[in-house]
Amino acid sequence: MEFAWSEDEVEFRQTLRAFIREHVRDEDQLLVPGEDPYSDSSIEFCRKLAAKGWLVPHWPKEYGGSDASSWIFAITSEELWAAGEPRGSQYMNVNWIGPAIIAAGTPEQKAQHLGRIASGDVLWCQGFSELDAGSDLVAMQTFAKKDGDHYVVNGQKIWTSYASKAEYCFLLAKTRQDGDPQHSISIFLVPMNTPGVRVEVVPTMLDIHTVHRLTFENVRVPASCRMGAENAGWPIVRDALSDERVGTPRYARAEEVLNRVVEIAAERGLFADGRLQRMASHASAACRAARLLSYQVRQSRSKGAGAGPEAYIGRVAIVRAEREVAEFAVEVVGEESLLGGSLVDGEFRTAMIAGLGGGSYEMQLNLIARLWLRLPKGA
Ligand SMILES: Cc1cc2nc3c(=O)[nH]c(=O)nc-3n(C[C@H](O)[C@H](O)[C@H](O)COP(=O)(O)OP(=O)(O)OC[C@H]3O[C@@H](n4cnc5c(N)ncnc54)[C@H](O)[C@@H]3O)c2cc1C
Repeated sequence: MEFAWSEDEVEFRQTLRAFIREHVRDEDQLLVPGEDPYSDSSIEFCRKLAAKGWLVPHWPKEYGGSDASSWIFAITSEELWAAGEPRGSQYMNVNWIGPAIIAAGTPEQKAQHLGRIASGDVLWCQGFSELDAGSDLVAMQTFAKKDGDHYVVNGQKIWTSYASKAEYCFLLAKTRQDGDPQHSISIFLVPMNTPGVRVEVVPTMLDIHTVHRLTFENVRVPASCRMGAENAGWPIVRDALSDERVGTPRYARAEEVLNRVVEIAAERGLFADGRLQRMASHASAACRAARLLSYQVRQSRSKGAGAGPEAYIGRVAIVRAEREVAEFAVEVVGEESLLGGSLVDGEFRTAMIAGLGGGSYEMQLNLIARLWLRLPKGA
């Protein structure tokens, strides 16, 4: 078995890195994907990536990709995330929204959405979480009632990233009141300018990332916007998101931050403290473990394996890596970490987001306990 990157892959990484250096301003590097500054500039950046064939290289040719290996896409994701994710919200488009449409969209939905995603000029948001349905997503209350050739949607989504600039929402709503909740959810690809959709910013302590409340008040959505069969949205989403657990290589950015903080610690002569040395090496090992576990998931998925518990293990490792780097960084710079907008302040907040956005850390542990360790529920 060959573990090393091929020559082509090494060359691709170098070329992409040079492209990022050329097109992403120094002061924007190492930011985290948020509303600012990338929602607008991501369009420009993603169009340039698309022109190079680097936005959706892993997609099939017929949908605008180049049938590249999932490793080329892994390199792309690592390099972009390490640079602060200049694709902005469009990382979601290429990671899982597009692939979900490829897997379950109608020919019309594919024609309408995939070309625009592949050419990098459309912003989406993800309308899943509700106030009492975050970890327990199937408890959602947003309801889409069939009315002729439309659905009428009512309800409220919360913590929605990127909503103020998004053109479409990948929305989950219940389409029946009774029955097994997992068989009551449908997917709707909703234009955000549909009358009755309201977007409000929700203030949080996160600071580096803006989230919103999305209200749907008698929103009439054509039935042609429903993706997949009625009440059959859950397996589509579960499958799409199983890749996404490791689709954001946070370890790549965490490693960059770690390297910079190690330099600071060395400059300040802090490594005489054995405790800091240990923290730095633990953080470095955590980043490597996250990288390897993520690769394992990519490898088995690229061989056609279904979604397995390895993806949850990979994500837990990613969150741990972010947290270890953040804790080390705070120890090194001390109260300077309280400076808003500083490298360490950003890393600490990023680590907080890592454990919640995209499904909480504790829920991943529960899933590992049940699916990997085969512990009984509630043990
Ligand atoms: C920065 C950010 C961006 C986000 N963007 C989006 C977005 O674009 N779209 C979207 O739909 N959502 C988004 N979310 C929401 C995110 O998916 C939820 O925060 C997450 O799923 C957790 O749900 P919750 O916030 O309701 O917390 P809860 O489910 O209320 O959980 C609160 C705490 O209790 C713990 N907990 C809950 N149940 C259990 C259990 N059974 N066992 C052990 N522990 C438990 C959780 O781990 C967590 O620590 C975002 C969140 C953040 C922080």
